Amino acid sequence: MKPPPFRYHDPGTVDEAVALVSSLDNAKLLAGGQSLMPMLNMRYVLPDHLIDLNRITDLSYIEESGGRVTIGAVTRQRDIERSDLLRRRCPLLRKALRQVGHPQTRNRGTIGGSLCHLDPSAELPAALAALDATVHVVGPNGARDVPMADFPAFYMTPAIEHDEILGAVSFDPWPAGHGSAFVEFARRPGDFAIVGVAALLEPGPDGTVGRAAIALAGVGPGPVRCAAAEERLAGRAPDADAIRAAALTCADIEAMEDIHAPSSYRRHLAVELTSRALHAALAEPGAGSPK
Ligand SMILES: Cc1cc2nc3c(=O)[nH]c(=O)nc-3n(C[C@H](O)[C@H](O)[C@H](O)COP(=O)(O)OP(=O)(O)OC[C@H]3O[C@@H](n4cnc5c(N)ncnc54)[C@H](O)[C@@H]3O)c2cc1C
Repeated sequence: MKPPPFRYHDPGTVDEAVALVSSLDNAKLLAGGQSLMPMLNMRYVLPDHLIDLNRITDLSYIEESGGRVTIGAVTRQRDIERSDLLRRRCPLLRKALRQVGHPQTRNRGTIGGSLCHLDPSAELPAALAALDATVHVVGPNGARDVPMADFPAFYMTPAIEHDEILGAVSFDPWPAGHGSAFVEFARRPGDFAIVGVAALLEPGPDGTVGRAAIALAGVGPGPVRCAAAEERLAGRAPDADAIRAAALTCADIEAMEDIHAPSSYRRHLAVELTSRALHAALAEPGAGSPK
């Protein structure tokens, strides 16, 4: 299979890339190519211009400043997985990434590409939704921020305009001692998950849960935060009954269905995997363990 003909552009700066994407008709941005290249080869997308972001070194970085972590859009998934800074400050991302495709796809795939491709089952958008991340977008009229909760506009469609580029994503890491887990069910290792769960737990006073964040992949067009489950846990002792009660609130989620699984099965997985993710997060040192 071969891609359709297109004109290739390889800008060296963000400004050049924005100028190209805002002036060319029917242009597509290329990051790691792990989703776009198959779509080109299968002729699902037929761009006249391909704008390659890979020469823009300013878009590839992981940094912490003023307590906030920022990751450039073209940072490879493998670099995020192996980052010492993120291993210390946000182990959730590493746990999520280990379930994204294969080492070969993570060597090329980027965080920005995963967010913009926005597969409903993708792990990174769910982890970033649990972290309440902010997406930083640049366009011809300057920069703007999009909260992760507003980033999915529609099925596989991010809330960025055709002449904008995702530049970075940032979040406040949870305090030291928090627990995290990413648990999913996929039919084969390396496949997209049917349902995945990102969980974060911060210990509160007297062995209670101070704060919880739970985000599901694979139940809606974008990540779904389980506010009811989070509220059930906050301020409670995290015993097995409390975890079960929190997980059971996911049975009320309006889950999508497709050729891979009906919505009833996705709801079943949401309950079961949320329970497993919470147990795994609590089992981490410092996070407390279920009684
Ligand atoms: C065998 C295989 C298994 C996989 N398994 C999984 C999996 O289990 N979980 C999972 O989440 N993913 C999986 N993927 C997809 C992989 O994670 C991709 O890396 C990701 O979906 C896209 O990232 P990319 O950098 O390759 O983006 P590309 O493929 O280059 O681009 C994807 C889309 O995003 C747009 N885009 C890219 N960067 C930007 C930017 N900075 N600003 C605006 N638009 C941008 C592109 O125009 C395109 O529309 C798999 C892929 C393969 C080949």
